[in-house]
Amino acid sequence: MRNKLELVAKSTRITDLLSYSHDASHFLLRPDSIYTPANVEEIIEIFALATDLKLGITFRSGGTSLSGQGITDGIMVDTRKHFKNITVGPQGSTVAVSPGATVRAVNNALFRHKTKLGPDPASEIACTIGGIVANNSSGMCCGTQQNTYRTIDSLVLILANGIVIDTGSEDADSRLRLQAPSIHEGLITLRDRVRLNPQSVDTINKLFAIKNTMGYGVNSFLDFDSPIKILEHLVIGSEGTLAFVAEARFNTVPAFSHMATGFLIFASLADAMSSLPMLIDAGFAAIELLDATSLRVAQRDVEATQELKSITVQGHAALLVEFQAATSDELATKVAAASSMISKLPIVQTATLTSDASIRKAMWHIRKGLYAAVASNRPSGTTALLEDIAVPVPEILATCEELTSLFKKYGYVDSVIFGHARDGNIHFMLNEEFDKPERLQRYRAFTDEMVDLVLGHGGTLKAEHGTGRMMAPYVRKQYGDELYDVMWSVKHLLDPAGILNPGIVLTENSNSHLENLKVIPTIEKVADSCVECGYCEPVCPSKDLTLTPRTRIVMRRELSLANERGDRATAKLIEKEFKYEGVDTCAVDGMCSTACPLSINTGSLVRELRTKKANPVLQAAWYLAARNWSAFTQLASVSLKILNVAPVLNSFPTGGSRRRSLTANNADAVFFPSCVGTLFGTSNSSDALLALAKRAGLRLTIPEGVDSLCCGTPWKSKGYKGGYSVMRNRLLKNLPKATDNGKIPIVSDAASCSHGLQELLANDPRFTVMDSVEYIEKFILPKLTVRKVQSIAVHPTCSTTALGVSDSLNNIAKAISDSTFVPENWGCCGFAGDRGFSHPELTKSATTLQAKEISSRHDDFYVSANQTCEIGMTRATGKKYRHIIEVLEEVSR
Ligand SMILES: Cc1cc2nc3c(=O)[nH]c(=O)nc-3n(C[C@H](O)[C@H](O)[C@H](O)COP(=O)(O)OP(=O)(O)OC[C@H]3O[C@@H](n4cnc5c(N)ncnc54)[C@H](O)[C@@H]3O)c2cc1C
Ligand code: SF4
Ligand code: SF4
Repeated sequence: MRNKLELVAKSTRITDLLSYSHDASHFLLRPDSIYTPANVEEIIEIFALATDLKLGITFRSGGTSLSGQGITDGIMVDTRKHFKNITVGPQGSTVAVSPGATVRAVNNALFRHKTKLGPDPASEIACTIGGIVANNSSGMCCGTQQNTYRTIDSLVLILANGIVIDTGSEDADSRLRLQAPSIHEGLITLRDRVRLNPQSVDTINKLFAIKNTMGYGVNSFLDFDSPIKILEHLVIGSEGTLAFVAEARFNTVPAFSHMATGFLIFASLADAMSSLPMLIDAGFAAIELLDATSLRVAQRDVEATQELKSITVQGHAALLVEFQAATSDELATKVAAASSMISKLPIVQTATLTSDASIRKAMWHIRKGLYAAVASNRPSGTTALLEDIAVPVPEILATCEELTSLFKKYGYVDSVIFGHARDGNIHFMLNEEFDKPERLQRYRAFTDEMVDLVLGHGGTLKAEHGTGRMMAPYVRKQYGDELYDVMWSVKHLLDPAGILNPGIVLTENSNSHLENLKVIPTIEKVADSCVECGYCEPVCPSKDLTLTPRTRIVMRRELSLANERGDRATAKLIEKEFKYEGVDTCAVDGMCSTACPLSINTGSLVRELRTKKANPVLQAAWYLAARNWSAFTQLASVSLKILNVAPVLNSFPTGGSRRRSLTANNADAVFFPSCVGTLFGTSNSSDALLALAKRAGLRLTIPEGVDSLCCGTPWKSKGYKGGYSVMRNRLLKNLPKATDNGKIPIVSDAASCSHGLQELLANDPRFTVMDSVEYIEKFILPKLTVRKVQSIAVHPTCSTTALGVSDSLNNIAKAISDSTFVPENWGCCGFAGDRGFSHPELTKSATTLQAKEISSRHDDFYVSANQTCEIGMTRATGKKYRHIIEVLEEVSR
């Protein structure tokens, strides 16, 4: 048996051990080893090993948990790299999912059926099915009716003894009785024990009427009769302590596309809470609370309206409300019915329910930005932690008022209270310095008082984030001795050797919430505020090869701590491994900043590190290249042509021709052809754009001396500041004349160049930079007549994402084809200008899944908006990717 286990990918490297020791919580533990099983059989092997070695096992999926249930000093089992299958049922009414798929990926797969998963955590971009089942996560709209507990159809489970149980099979209950008779019988005994105890029944009814992820879901004993269904529902919310979830089959819920949103500001929290019952009765899908501190923080938001800014916030509070409907008629009926009720509420400013996308976006930005605003403004060196309680709705007012007094008493500033008011679910943030003993004492005393406060109002101490190690010491206090004992009996029944996530949910350590706390040292400013939430991980092209944005930041922190401790050996090891893992294999594409709630671009951190470690010879050579860019690009182009003569090397591009200026009277735009065309010659996008403009009756000018100009990205991404500033100065000298000091936009035919130019020329009113796909969609496409093809596969790029023009790319593709296809596993290809040549393994890893999808179908054209990405995707898929401009030019002749 042990021999087989040697086949399972295992790591004890320092980089892996340290990066898996962090998750989104404020706890930190270094695992003994990390396994990355590829299938269920390997999980069973790991269970056997852990039993033999008496080691605990913790599953790590999205790593977004906040209560410490995702870290361990035992065996860490990564269940995200594999286990990503998604199978959509008829009309999207059900979906069967492996635990490593993210909630967003599942909802993307369901999108065309207008259905979605019931659980709707704010962390959906990164959290996974394993996590939402194991934590019974919820969110803004799902309440207690659409969480996993309520919407699950069946689970495939691996029990601690290695038995695989499919709770969906027709004879599942009798199989359980045959395969695990003691478990079957034990569950019946516990069920009857709970049902026969009126106090237990009463406690369960009260606590599970509100959102509750404290302890085990002992409501299963009341809600279900058969042991198999009880088992299925006990595993939900058990945080990896009772079984491994190998597959989850959900009943889905409707995904509504018609919304109307309003922002209601009240003079006091009391006014807001007195209005809550009416708003709940009106059927709002979301009712989000913002307390006075939240409003003060929100006033600093760039998207705050003048009305919000004009209030002198004292005891004010706001409720953000939203209706959702399947049709516009249904929405209009709801809005009409609610509008007169809203006008009678004690609000301090008139409020309307709007469907205007930009106003709705601004409202949600204010609500969702609270966490980021407080987290990014916290003092350097402090750890952020997010609390999550629920109380019955009538108790919200008193609970919030008493919490605010507690914050004052303990000196916690900017502790915003926000949350899902409809469900009595309140979140608040604390920033703490856990390395200072007096601060730890403050946190201990605060927590004890907070626990009494919440329990005093009939609340639960964890509404949706799970008990973890954070609230495990308080489970007995929450439920009383009898139900606490029932919970321990459940644990002993299903995991007698105690291998599954020990110390989580239930613990004998009354201090587990005060031990193994994260200390956050100060690191490079650009990434210092990172809260290690993990939102950025799924979009990172290097995630399956080396590190992610979060783990790059984590390793900088670990390096800093090792240096602080004087632990040179560890520091040296980290530095050695980080060169390849952290620096060389980062695509510096900034995809992480598009997902990060704090907009942190880890690529900028990597660029800083590249600058520090830049090879002086290479740096000087690139400086020379910047000074002589025209000659350099031509030389490089000729060299590539020569290289291509040799058959072994002909996977290199061929080299193209020199860029030339073009004058035009009363030009409509300045065309800035990318130098990538000269270097690689893989694309005719430049000629195609000129032809299209002519066809649409638009005049383009190309600046004088264009062959010596560049957007600066090659220097910026390598951290070569000297060359970058040479190029910047040259652009600032040449371009104002061409744009007539800002009268006409600059258009580039490579999205990465448009992005580079936009960054380089930012905040200078003489320049408006537009990528060619945006310019074409707005000014050229409406004037063309096109012949439609059947289908086009589209590869949006990191730059079109950062520029916000991926929709333009898709819209052009839609205009010239009957159907377009973007792979469900789409992501940045990681080619990153020239990194795809020096580190082809990065592109290979980043494109594996999307290439599989592309290769399994036929499309008439394969398009993108950046030449180097086209090279990367062509190599990855074996299909010929071209710039969409070229295809548009062909079909509009
Ligand atoms: C900024 C932020 C906002 C959040 N917002 C919300 C919110 O709105 N609502 C909400 O409910 N939560 C929220 N969360 C908490 C968290 O995102 C959710 O609990 C999420 O479901 C965790 O999923 P994960 O994939 O990250 O799981 P992980 O953290 O990796 O794991 C969670 C637990 O599940 C166990 N586990 C994982 N896979 C399996 C498996 N296959 N079988 C058995 N056990 C398994 C792990 O051992 C661990 O105990 C938020 C977190 C952050 C950082
Ligand atoms: S970089 Fe941003 S998204 Fe990534 S872990 Fe840090 S705070 Fe979260
Ligand atoms: S810049 Fe790109 S490769 Fe680098 S950490 Fe961010 S997402 Fe990952």
